[in-house]
Amino acid sequence: MHDPPAGRRVPPPLLDSLGRELADLRVSVTDRCNFRCRYCMPRERFGSEHRFLDRSDLLSFEEITRLASIFVSLGVGKIRLTGGEPLLRRGLPKLVSMLASLGTDLALTTNGSLLSRHADALAAAGLRRITVSLDALDEETFQQMSDSAVSVADVLAGITAAERAGLSPLKLNVVVRRGLNEHAIGAMVDRFAGSGHVVRFIEYMDVGTTNGWRLDHVLTAEEILSVVRTRTGLEPIAPDRPGEVASRYRRIDGGGEIGVIASVSRPFCRDCVRARLSSDGRLHTCLFSTGGTALGYALRHGVPDSQIASMIRSAWHLRDDRYSELRSDATRPSAAVPVTLAGSAERAGRPTPAPGAEKVEMSYIGG
Ligand code: SAM
Ligand code: SF4
Ligand code: SF4
Repeated sequence: MHDPPAGRRVPPPLLDSLGRELADLRVSVTDRCNFRCRYCMPRERFGSEHRFLDRSDLLSFEEITRLASIFVSLGVGKIRLTGGEPLLRRGLPKLVSMLASLGTDLALTTNGSLLSRHADALAAAGLRRITVSLDALDEETFQQMSDSAVSVADVLAGITAAERAGLSPLKLNVVVRRGLNEHAIGAMVDRFAGSGHVVRFIEYMDVGTTNGWRLDHVLTAEEILSVVRTRTGLEPIAPDRPGEVASRYRRIDGGGEIGVIASVSRPFCRDCVRARLSSDGRLHTCLFSTGGTALGYALRHGVPDSQIASMIRSAWHLRDDRYSELRSDATRPSAAVPVTLAGSAERAGRPTPAPGAEKVEMSYIGG
């Protein structure tokens, strides 16, 4: 667990309607990306006609820092920058240095394509932890997954630059899609054995509405682990903090740590302590939410910090999201009745719903 630095007052926990604390904040700094991963931003839905947010809609670094500091005053101790691809946001190290001054744990998730250019500046600005997404080591599969002009070598160069900049150990996220990149499991386990980096396999999720998700595309954590076990035995390790989403394992061959994020087969909603801030300043209390609380709008219309804090408090108090658990119930073979997968946003009748009633896309809300 990240300890607050000396001098940072730790407020009493803010609890949602299911007793879950507000502890982590994910901040999306852009809804744009230079990849078109099939499972996140399929090109046919995110092509040239797709309307991304206008530059003027994006929160400025000052606005992000102001909102983040309100979240910190309410108990957030960990901030992760994400997107879209966060390294597409110009001047990101400046934001890192502004957020570093809040004294929380500060991390970044990136597709790695621009990391070799920015790793030094990010580290110098105060970033300590980084997660790089990499779904395959062979070019053909990597292209099938990422649909980009970037090569595996570019991402590996980014990882090397991050290591040199002192941002290691890294976490490496691998989304596994049945029938596409199962073979990447063994390849990633072998490639990063002994590197100190933690390879984490993520079950393919039904985020957003565009990726054509099907349950039979999901390779479950158990199936993933059985592939890893063909390389090495595994011992479970305790979570490093409450709200940790990955199940952690130590390789008994001394090769380091492996993680699995079993959002579909073993949902962890009851421990979910994470809020998300979209790049235009909407607070989302679940990755699968359909609405959001327009904190950015409030901030731009002169609402004082104390009232914005109240907006966050009420959104969090009302929070009853547990989409993945409900999905699990609904997709169990014995499920007799279809389950409604709506979250607290609609039920609470929030005053500022996002346009449309569909689940928001992960690239918008921040993965
Ligand atoms: N662009 C950055 C990246 O890819 O690392 C940050 C944003 S991305 C939305 C954050 C994480 O979400 C990535 O590790 C990505 O693999 C994961 N992700 C995106 N869509 C997913 C899906 N449908 N199922 C599981 N994980 C997904
Ligand atoms: Fe871009 Fe990350 Fe989504 Fe892939 S997962 S399309 S890299 S935002
Ligand atoms: Fe948290 Fe929503 Fe995911 Fe459940 S489905 S773990 S509540 S983000």
